[in-house]
Amino acid sequence: MILVLLGPPGVGKGTQGEMLAEDLGWHRLATGDVLRAARREGTRLGREAQRYMDRGDLVPDEIIVGMVRERLERLESGGGVILDGFPRTVPQAEALDEVLGELGSGVDGVLELTAPDEVLVKRISGRRSCAECGKLYNTYFDPPEVDGRCDACGSSLTHRDDDDAETVAHRLDVYRAQTEPLVDFYRGTAAELIRVDGDRSMSDVQGAIRSALQQRLGVDGDGQ
Ligand code: AMP
Repeated sequence: MILVLLGPPGVGKGTQGEMLAEDLGWHRLATGDVLRAARREGTRLGREAQRYMDRGDLVPDEIIVGMVRERLERLESGGGVILDGFPRTVPQAEALDEVLGELGSGVDGVLELTAPDEVLVKRISGRRSCAECGKLYNTYFDPPEVDGRCDACGSSLTHRDDDDAETVAHRLDVYRAQTEPLVDFYRGTAAELIRVDGDRSMSDVQGAIRSALQQRLGVDGDGQ
């Protein structure tokens, strides 16, 4: 089962994708996370991606496709795969079909999460994470008890460089121009297109996702 998570920055793809992967025992491949790890480690991939990410632009398709291909080929067979943040352009979606075709599979479902722009901007600009344990916060919706400090381990909270207000507005424009057309792309394929309103509590969104996956793709609690 290959499930593509689609949606603008800040809609909750990361959070929902992680919950889903954990509950169903599926793999999750989040290209943004892979790129940020590569930057921290100072690899060639990280250095190449840096200037695009800092501007809020997309990293070129050929870099991303090579990176995803390598990871998909390494995944053990069986179970599901959640693709979070990939594909983000029509050429990436075409390349994904090609890679999956070679591996004898294809995209089964596309889950599109939606929310109004003003909600997205608050969610992203308020986003903080613990540098030490990774716990996530939001200064508007889910602030830590002590400003700038992690409730769980007391370490300082960090803000993603590309989460400042100007870059966020640009990332939303990039999403509308380059990624949203994927909805039409997938409408013309065999993949099941599922739209879920992401402007609700975390657990309500997860509940809606789980029931949609059950009804439309027959995915049960054990991930099968
Ligand atoms: P994300 O964590 O998914 O919001 O991604 C953060 C940044 O990583 C994006 O703004 C892009 O610069 C880059 N990125 C992540 N995934 C892709 C992708 N599939 N194609 C191009 N750039 C990407």
